[in-house]
Amino acid sequence: MVGLFSKEKAFCTVCKKELSHKHKPKKSWNVTGSLCGNCHVDLMKEHFEDDNDNKCVLCGATPGSFNLWKSKKEWGVQGWLCKPCFDQKEKQDDELKKFCCLCGAKVGFISYAPKKEWNLKGQVCKNCWNSRTKN
Ligand SMILES: [Zn+2]
Ligand SMILES: [Zn+2]
Ligand SMILES: [Zn+2]
Repeated sequence: MVGLFSKEKAFCTVCKKELSHKHKPKKSWNVTGSLCGNCHVDLMKEHFEDDNDNKCVLCGATPGSFNLWKSKKEWGVQGWLCKPCFDQKEKQDDELKKFCCLCGAKVGFISYAPKKEWNLKGQVCKNCWNSRTKN
């Protein structure tokens, strides 16, 4: 018999199942050979988590996904942070919020967000906001 059966058989490199459809592994997976659909999906998931969830985006530490913290939107950081980086960011964030970034006065509860065109980070006090907006 020739035809269908003359084709070389291929097996999944992970589970050794005979393949009807070959799936190619990605280079970064360090896998040689072909994969069946199931193993392909499994590896995809595994490496997707590697790439996105197990790494602090600031220092690159990999303390495990349970020890990573989601960064806050206003930090301009996308992804996950390890505890030390998260704490540091939060501290910086708090400090920026507490004082007027122009005169250094305590802002307290009533703070004013500077206008975009002022190019300032943080908050301004009432006095500075007033004097800026007057001009
Ligand atoms: Zn397989
Ligand atoms: Zn970190
Ligand atoms: Zn001020």
